[in-house]
Amino acid sequence: MLDEGIKNSEAEDFLLKPDKMEEACGVFGIYGQGKDVARLTYYALYALQHRGQQSAGIAVSAGAEIKVHKKRGLVSEVFTEQILADLTGHLAIGHVQYSAKGSNLAVNSQPLVCHYLKGNLAVAHNGNLINAQALKEKLAVNGSVFQSTIDAELIANLLALYGQGTLEEALMKTMIDLKGSYALVIMTEDKLIGVRDPYGNRPLCLGKLDNSYLLASESCAFDVLGAELIRDVAPGEIVVIDQEGLHSHRFVSPVERALCVFEFIYFARPDSNIDGINVMEARRAMGRELAQESPVDVDIVIPVPDSGIAGALGYAEALNLYFDMGLMKNRYIGRTFIRSEQNERNLAVRLKLNPVTKLVQGKKVAIVDDSIVRGTTSKKIVQMLRNRGAAEVHLLITAPPVIAPCYYGIDTSERGQLIAAQKSIEETRVYIGADSLTYLSLAGLSRALRQEAGFCEACLSEEYPLGIPSPERLGKHLTEVSSQQRREVR
Ligand code: SF4
Repeated sequence: MLDEGIKNSEAEDFLLKPDKMEEACGVFGIYGQGKDVARLTYYALYALQHRGQQSAGIAVSAGAEIKVHKKRGLVSEVFTEQILADLTGHLAIGHVQYSAKGSNLAVNSQPLVCHYLKGNLAVAHNGNLINAQALKEKLAVNGSVFQSTIDAELIANLLALYGQGTLEEALMKTMIDLKGSYALVIMTEDKLIGVRDPYGNRPLCLGKLDNSYLLASESCAFDVLGAELIRDVAPGEIVVIDQEGLHSHRFVSPVERALCVFEFIYFARPDSNIDGINVMEARRAMGRELAQESPVDVDIVIPVPDSGIAGALGYAEALNLYFDMGLMKNRYIGRTFIRSEQNERNLAVRLKLNPVTKLVQGKKVAIVDDSIVRGTTSKKIVQMLRNRGAAEVHLLITAPPVIAPCYYGIDTSERGQLIAAQKSIEETRVYIGADSLTYLSLAGLSRALRQEAGFCEACLSEEYPLGIPSPERLGKHLTEVSSQQRREVR
């Protein structure tokens, strides 16, 4: 029997929790006189849906007030024709959110809209502030009260606190206070603003559609709208778009860029370009580098769909190996499918991913994925391939092991759930049941990206370029990894 003996909890784990790091948010903004900005934002959020599936929202200004609609759910579930028709204006920002554990309250949906001394303000944030607790205390002393647990509310409160002068001056003072990771789109009744933290940890790019300027987490949102990517917002830059056009400001001292390397490993869409690097090309290059570092003698290279496809292509082409889609993924599995009967649990797992028996039977198989977080999915896949008659199963990961949590807005799982933080590579191989397990090295990753510096790799190296949060916010992440485990993964 295939997948015999699978437990209910394992089936649920496999079906409902992707064995991946989870992105936190996607942001979008448009200043588009004469355009249906709500509808354009809606389409852009569709393109950014992979960055967050828990909630979606759009705020629109027609000059006098800001209207907002936001709710938990996918973009397609949150907006209707009527809602979009009611969101009239020439200026809009949008947000899709992945809520980390414990923060999935409706009140945490973005954009956050508030009123301050100078009028209305809408804020959408991607990232994570590491000094949120200290900021909250500072604001509380000044009389602020909070309705949510999101950093966007702290940022809006700081802008209000410093709001006596111009908005640009308030932003400058706010940026001095903020520590951590942030890509922001902010809207007043008549201005659209984009801000990227001084390290450029999260992506933010600038585009143009006819005479309208756009901001987005990823350039794939521009492609969908037929807009042109002009450039990335530079680390530490503030871009302000109003009826006079685009203005750029830099108030903070430059620091070395620390763009999240996981955007290239997993988060971003392959058709996006970030800071001049095409994501698809980068992933393919990671596969080629892994082939140089660790060639294996196999009959077929197959990817874990969809995250392993580009890396598997790169690996196979570098070694002139046969590549095929040996695993089929069902994209329509939902929460309602879980059943308690053993045979239905087995069936559920096979429904999500099913090997093509003819391609793997009797073959030495290399299965390629971009990363392993908990190892549960990899274990199931190896088991399935063996059950379908694969003679050997070699697991190839086109990134280094994830050994440490992310504090910059990505839900990594707790350190205790990161298999590479708990087990050696050999112990992980045994747990997964593969004939071999190989990761790309950190040096190989740099070669694939053609840039040795300028990336945050903290979850792979435990070197945190933006610092780590105050102990109050660290909470669950404080479990220590042994020094032996740290040595092994370097
Ligand atoms: S720790 Fe990892 S996931 Fe987090 S920002 Fe750095 S590279 Fe990205």
